[in-house]
Amino acid sequence: MPNEAFAAMNAERDEQGLATFANPRNATAGTLKQLDPKIVAQRPLAFLAHGLGAYEGPELPSEHDFHALLDSLGIPRNQPVFTVSTLEGLLESVAKINHDRHDLGYGTDGAVVKVLDRREREQLGYTSRAPRWAAAYKFLPEQKETRLHSVTVQVGRTGVLTPVAELDPVLVSGTTVSRATLHNEEEIQRKDIRLGDTVIIEKAGEIIPAVVKVVLEKRAADSKPFSLFDHVGGQCPSCHGPISKEEGFVAWRCTNFECPAQAVSKIKQFASRKALDIEGVGETVAEALVSRGLCRTPLDLFALTEATLGSLNLGSDEEPRRFGEKNAAKVIEALQQARSKPLARWLYAMGIRQVGESAAKELSRLHATLGELAQSPILTEILKDTRADAKKKNELLVPYAITGDVGPAVAESILAFFQSEAGRHVLERLGALDIDPASANYLPKAAEVDLSAMPLAGKRAAGTQSRTV
Ligand SMILES: [Zn+2]
Repeated sequence: MPNEAFAAMNAERDEQGLATFANPRNATAGTLKQLDPKIVAQRPLAFLAHGLGAYEGPELPSEHDFHALLDSLGIPRNQPVFTVSTLEGLLESVAKINHDRHDLGYGTDGAVVKVLDRREREQLGYTSRAPRWAAAYKFLPEQKETRLHSVTVQVGRTGVLTPVAELDPVLVSGTTVSRATLHNEEEIQRKDIRLGDTVIIEKAGEIIPAVVKVVLEKRAADSKPFSLFDHVGGQCPSCHGPISKEEGFVAWRCTNFECPAQAVSKIKQFASRKALDIEGVGETVAEALVSRGLCRTPLDLFALTEATLGSLNLGSDEEPRRFGEKNAAKVIEALQQARSKPLARWLYAMGIRQVGESAAKELSRLHATLGELAQSPILTEILKDTRADAKKKNELLVPYAITGDVGPAVAESILAFFQSEAGRHVLERLGALDIDPASANYLPKAAEVDLSAMPLAGKRAAGTQSRTV
């Protein structure tokens, strides 16, 4: 895919709210995997011939004859081609290609050296993996020195915070580079990259700018190691919600249920079957609701009307595809039912870190309502007592007989969320929507329950027998 066509296509996709491609190579690979030829036809792919497959016709004794055939048929081919007969000549040609290749208009990462004469090729033959008459010469990526003046942090669709180096612009491998992904905090610490550092950059695979290393001799005496948490002030740059990093993971994440950067994935989880079971709201609908500006957070679903939802365009502007009144009515009905779904489902729907299905059930056994959970003295107690067997030894916790699903990590995650501005906002909005999720399995002091009062007390259980024949 030519560079210019790639840039134009990406700009257009960006305008339409579609995901952009990282580079021409990814765009090409993604296009070739498409099953719909109509989509492939819209992408600006180009073709250059470089080898001969099945062929019937006059003999082509040399590579030159093959090139002449391509030219006479109007089939574009790789240019330039140099013909040489000495090793010095070959090295010179490779160096010239390396020097000029950034003006080609498409990405390249090497040159191919081939024997001209086809009969000589036959004599040379093949190894088990490749021909002996051709070899690829890969260029070393061009490296440049520049200054990293700041780090911005992007929030991905699933809440992952990705640090990006902001660089003084510098020409590398044919394009001006002013940003490079730093992947995650661990990567930054491994390379000990700091704000204000002079760094060496290159384009990995000739395409994606990367920081290779720091020029330590040029580091300022007062520079400090980089901390992503401190850098963003402990908040998501997109929504100012709390961020957290789980043990064993390298990425910091925004944990806010209402983070606009994560709207699509949060709506999907919110509506999923194990959560609030809003059938009809999956990836496509969530994507359309967000890109059309109808939803920024899952709670915005409750403001939708049947008419808006019915005329929601799931297709493109050129080829619209309406969601339809029938589907819309079903979704509105499911949303109505979601209002009174039990606390455990709501907790799972919010996608709070560490709170999976079973932790959500246990939390709803321990708390009667969401409001109670948000200020839970039980969770506060779990956090306070850090002994490994705290739940068995802490007198205050013993009566609750809390299972392993709820431990310090869950307690911390829940309390941090509801004590944050983002969490308080969720509670406020639920209040305004008149939604107050209540527990359907509330039985907090399990250890103190008088078992003799249970309906099956005193009855003997009928055992079943199993027998193998
Ligand atoms: Zn966020």
